[in-house]
Amino acid sequence: MSESESEDEIDLAVEQSIEDLKVRASKSAIDGLKRRKYFYEGGGDSLAKSKTSTAADCVVCMDVFEDGTGVTYIPCSHFFHEGCLVRWLQESNSCPLCRFQISSTRTD
Ligand SMILES: [Zn+2]
Ligand SMILES: [Zn+2]
Repeated sequence: MSESESEDEIDLAVEQSIEDLKVRASKSAIDGLKRRKYFYEGGGDSLAKSKTSTAADCVVCMDVFEDGTGVTYIPCSHFFHEGCLVRWLQESNSCPLCRFQISSTRTD
């Protein structure tokens, strides 16, 4: 009757992988992110014109960044509203756009 034992092991493994998904970014990692003011570089020179892109928006709240808004950069070069990113990183340790992993609270 060792079957129930191996079932327990599987349950444990599933629980472990769920835990891994819930890993959050560490506070020091969030504190260490670069913060800047966003300015839309839409006017003027030919380089900007060739992109013809609209102002970027924050994928967390879907709002466009307004000039002078405080944004926080992740090392993958994506950026978000400071408040949106902090909230996001309290649930997840990866970039909302490309899943770039930021340092987690785990120390192992
Ligand atoms: Zn936002
Ligand atoms: Zn990214």
